Amino acid sequence: MILATKNRHKLEEMRLALEGMGIDLRSAFEFADLPEVVEDADTLEGNALKKARETFILTGITSVADDTGLEVDALGGRPGVWSARYAGEGATYAMNVDKLLAELSDVPIDRRTARFRTVIAVAGPAGEWTVDGVCEGEILTERIGKGGFGYDPVFRPAGYDRSFAEMSIEEKNLISHRGKALKAFRDAYATPRPIS
Ligand code: IMP
Repeated sequence: MILATKNRHKLEEMRLALEGMGIDLRSAFEFADLPEVVEDADTLEGNALKKARETFILTGITSVADDTGLEVDALGGRPGVWSARYAGEGATYAMNVDKLLAELSDVPIDRRTARFRTVIAVAGPAGEWTVDGVCEGEILTERIGKGGFGYDPVFRPAGYDRSFAEMSIEEKNLISHRGKALKAFRDAYATPRPIS
């Protein structure tokens, strides 16, 4: 199976999550001619499926891809699929977090609910399928914590009194959107269910 990303961190994370499943997970890095897939769908599912499908079509090997977004209720679900480029093309994590805090500056804490969502898509000879993982929480009024990446310093998962940036990687993985999506992937892989 090919992981349709050139992000080495994701490859290692996925390899760990799939250990013991008998899957030989290869990286898109090993296929030098593979073009970067343009993520222009307007849903997480659309982008994840597009990445997996294009990689499968070009290689003939079952491919897996993921896409993650932060859905903020007070912003009608934004930034969602645009989370990486929320503050513009090429925006840094810091710029995206600054924009989020500015847009929510007048929103009281009880209306700052949000969720991270990760979709994992698979495309192969047996068809295509997706699974997802959701982590509910709220957006803090300022950054707290030094760990993690992206929106972690301003996201506090429901039922916790610390932000993702205050948690160890192991603790975050147990409750995170990506951790849950990877678990759903493992479960679904054991019983494949083509959707098209
Ligand atoms: P990607 O689809 O995994 O590349 O994620 C898209 C964007 O969502 C990233 O650029 C980050 O800004 C944000 N993001 C994804 N996962 C996380 C997370 O676990 N914590 C904080 N931000 C995240």
